[in-house]
Parts: sequence; structure tokens; C-alpha cells
Amino acid sequence: RTIIKIEHLERVYATGAVKTYALKDISIEIEEGEFVAIMGKSGSGKSTLLHQLGLLDKPTKGNITIDGNDVINISEKERTRFRLHELGYVFQSYNLIPELTAIENVYVTPMARNLKKEEYEKMAEEVLTAVGLKDRMYHYPSELSGGQQQRVSIARALVNKPKILFADEPTANLDSASSEDVINLFRKFNKEIGQTIVMVTHEKDEGEKADRIIWVKDGLLDTDK
Ligand code: ADP
Ligand code: ADP
Repeated sequence: RTIIKIEHLERVYATGAVKTYALKDISIEIEEGEFVAIMGKSGSGKSTLLHQLGLLDKPTKGNITIDGNDVINISEKERTRFRLHELGYVFQSYNLIPELTAIENVYVTPMARNLKKEEYEKMAEEVLTAVGLKDRMYHYPSELSGGQQQRVSIARALVNKPKILFADEPTANLDSASSEDVINLFRKFNKEIGQTIVMVTHEKDEGEKADRIIWVKDGLLDTDK
């Protein structure tokens, strides 16, 4: 079953009179339960592509369908609802709130859904346990290593059970051991709960752990790879 379908995507950035064709004409289908890596040189359009798929930006032309929903020709309010309820994000910077403990950072979004405290605490505890941080739940971000902070941000992205997890260079700031932990966690969630994952990476060995690599070059799919 196709979960993401993009057709003839184009994204042009206009900076004054200068136009950059970051995405020229990209069509892709991603299956539910797939773990996909997007790779290519710096400036090839990887982040721009991920931002379109994750509804963080709008294409200049083209269509995007997620789980059968047209997510382009809908209101901003609907797009925001979709982002919050259906999608999860992990970035290279962990973006944790420094004044909140690990568990508080994770339950921020379920808390906003009018659940009882016991319920959202339990959800956060379960997912923090799944990322190997059961004994660090009450620590603040400043008391955690980079790898542990990234695992908190993965827990936060997954606590709402998103249809798709988007990760933009999630290991860029990590040492090789923590990087491996992050990719292994993605692999685990992909295998065990069928989590669909779309990840941008520079690292060939990380891309090779995905089910498929989508190569991008100069705003187009690189079909020579
Ligand atoms: P990476 O190569 O690690 O993906 P980039 O430097 O390409 O990182 O981009 C990081 C973010 O900065 C992009 O997602 C984009 O929003 C913004 N960005 C990149 N290039 C430009 C640019 N020329 N002008 C303005 N913003 C840019
Ligand atoms: P990658 O992630 O592969 O490094 P990006 O998607 O960040 O590539 O960038 C693709 C192209 O678009 C680059 O030429 C970059 O400079 C440009 N770009 C990215 N974001 C912006 C932006 N916000 N404004 C202007 N140009 C941008």
C-alpha cells in the first residue's frame, strides 16, 4: 500500500531576482512500512525534498498525497493538524526544551490532547523505555549526552504513533557509536511496529541500512545510481 505519493514536484526559491531550482521534477512512491533513505551531495535538494514530504514547506508545483489525502490543496489549518497528529520529526539538532525533563519533553504533545496525566505519562514512559532511556527519564537535557538527547527526540517523535517518521540528518552531530544506536533504533521501530521512516543522510553506511536509497542530484532523481 502506497503511503506517500509525490508527482512532478518542483520547488523554486526566489531570493530577489535569483531563482534556485532546488527540486525540478521529482516523482516518488513510498510504501507503508518502508524505511527509505534520501541521499545525494550537499545542495542536491535532499532537505528541500524532505520538507515537502513532511509538510514543512509547500512545493511551487506538483502534488503530494499522504495516506490517500491530498495534502497540498487543503487549508493551512488542515496541514497543521496533519503535521501534529500524523507525522513525526527528528532533526540533527535535538530541539529539546531545556527546562523540561526527558519525560516532560516527550509528553508535551500527548498532553495537549486532553488525555489524563496517568495516560500520557505511561505513553512517554513506554517509548522512552523502547529507546533505552528508562533510567534517564527524569534527567534534564543538559544532563544527557548528545546520543541520549537524540533518543529523547526520537521518543518524542514516536509517542503519537505517527504514520510517518521524518529524519533530517539525525546523526550529523553524533559520534559513530551513538549514530549507530540511532540507526539501529530506526531499524527496530521499522521492523517491530512497521514504522514508515524517511531519512536524509550523508552517510553511505546508514543509507545501506534502509530498505531503499533514493538518490537526488541537482533537484532530480539520480537514476544512474
Ligand atoms: P544540509 O546540506 O545539511 O541539508 P543545508 O545547508 O543545505 O543543510 O540547509 C539547511 C537549511 O538551511 C535548509 O533546510 C534550508 O531551509 C536553509 N538553506 C539552505 N540553503 C539556503 C540558501 N541558499 N538560502 C537560504 N536558506 C538556505
Ligand atoms: P541538501 O539538503 O541536499 O544539501 P537543500 O535542499 O538544502 O540541499 O538545497 C538545495 C538547493 O536549494 C541549494 O542550492 C540551496 O542553496 C537552495 N536552498 C535551500 N533552501 C533555500 C532557501 N530557503 N532559500 C534559497 N535557496 C535555498
